[in-house]
Amino acid sequence: MGRARQFAIFAIVAVVAVAAAYGGWRVYQRTQPEQCYACQRPIHAHSRTVVSAKGGSRIFCCPACALSEQRQEAKDVRVTELTAYLSGAKLSPNDAYVVKGSDVNMCAHSHELIDADKRPADVQYDRCAPSLLAFAQEREAIQFSREHGGTVHPFREVAASYAK
Ligand SMILES: [Zn+2]
Repeated sequence: MGRARQFAIFAIVAVVAVAAAYGGWRVYQRTQPEQCYACQRPIHAHSRTVVSAKGGSRIFCCPACALSEQRQEAKDVRVTELTAYLSGAKLSPNDAYVVKGSDVNMCAHSHELIDADKRPADVQYDRCAPSLLAFAQEREAIQFSREHGGTVHPFREVAASYAK
């Protein structure tokens, strides 16, 4: 077999291998549930939060996690979309209300924190706590807090308090 022919065969095999790997990766990506940009927790459909940061949009597991990011990264991080806990509908942060610190935290129960030695990590700090859940109407938030505790605030106020 000549050199040129050997090279041609090698090139074809390489292209096929890369194409197969890429196809496999695409399928893998599609079948993965959405993960939080910051904490990699699976995203619950009723607490999904979209943030605009450095010109792109990022998806977070819950408003608390997104606001923790805002506090850590300061400028350029802004919540652009919330999800109503009751209906799963998209909410504008400007009109939404949140219940802070209720006994419902979509993130806390879905993932055990494990440290490098495979021991449960000290969970004194959780970026998703205290729990924040978004509501379209103030009265829905008040009703929810009667059953699950926590305090009701306009989302804007809570976001401003994290921004300090
Ligand atoms: Zn998160």
